[in-house]
Amino acid sequence: MSLDMSLNNTSHLGRPGPEELVPSRYALKIGEIDVMVVSDGVLLLPGAMVAHNADPAVRAAWLEDMFLPPDAFDWALNVVVVRSGGRTILIDAGMGVEFPDLPRSGQLLHRLEAAGIDLASVTDVVLTHMHMDHVGGLLADGVKEQLRPDLRIHVAAAEVKFWEAPDFSRVSMPPGFPDALRRTAKRFVKEYRSQLRTFETEQEVAPGVVVHRTGGHTPGHSVVRLKSGGDRLTFAGDLVFQVGFEHPEWYNGFEHDPEEAARVRVRLLRELAANGELLVATHLPFPSICHVAVDGDAFRCVPVMWDY
Ligand SMILES: [Zn+2]
Repeated sequence: MSLDMSLNNTSHLGRPGPEELVPSRYALKIGEIDVMVVSDGVLLLPGAMVAHNADPAVRAAWLEDMFLPPDAFDWALNVVVVRSGGRTILIDAGMGVEFPDLPRSGQLLHRLEAAGIDLASVTDVVLTHMHMDHVGGLLADGVKEQLRPDLRIHVAAAEVKFWEAPDFSRVSMPPGFPDALRRTAKRFVKEYRSQLRTFETEQEVAPGVVVHRTGGHTPGHSVVRLKSGGDRLTFAGDLVFQVGFEHPEWYNGFEHDPEEAARVRVRLLRELAANGELLVATHLPFPSICHVAVDGDAFRCVPVMWDY
């Protein structure tokens, strides 16, 4: 292996597969529940997406303080696999491979395979919401055929309803995104309608695994709460972004109801800071597992120690 290849370890050494230099998965236990965070890769997105209600100079200063480039940076894209009570649950499904502008995402399938997780073993999918970076992986070629016919896909009823006539009036997305998001959500419902198991406010998917609707980011956005023994972990989906600890009041460009998203974010971060449970979120730097601390009017993400 040459040095320049090893520097670019989010792409592949020759081809994707078990021999990837960095396997991009991290496992932990929450009591009796097995949890694995798997990276679907990264998304290169404009820096302005971190806040469309912030003074551009303040936003630029934040990016600089974080050693992030001013124009665009790589957002993490995390997916979680949970095993509890004999069920294997995929929480979100990554981007898939149909978006040539985002070529370094869509790594989930070969990384699941490398982790020894067969798609046919997945009993449940939980969707935090129906944006394409969360459902796209289910639309990749050959995936549906490998999934079980009795697969249950849990998603808030409000989310399915929203995508029948989605409102993009309050978002601030790069051109092309609203159309791609609309198209992907429509296609997803068309392909998987008979397997959807919708819920109103919450649903227990397996022992200690509860999906709970929060709204905000999208009307049916949901988080997944894990609880076993004395341990707790919340997968927050897109409620918390990297900037959301320091500036929870900043509106992310992908939020369909940004005020409500900010309210829900602050409420969740306060709760996690108070009860000490672990947080994982889709777009926090991999493997994203941290505790939340209160820091004046804002918060801090305190990463857990890597323990392998
Ligand atoms: Zn997302």
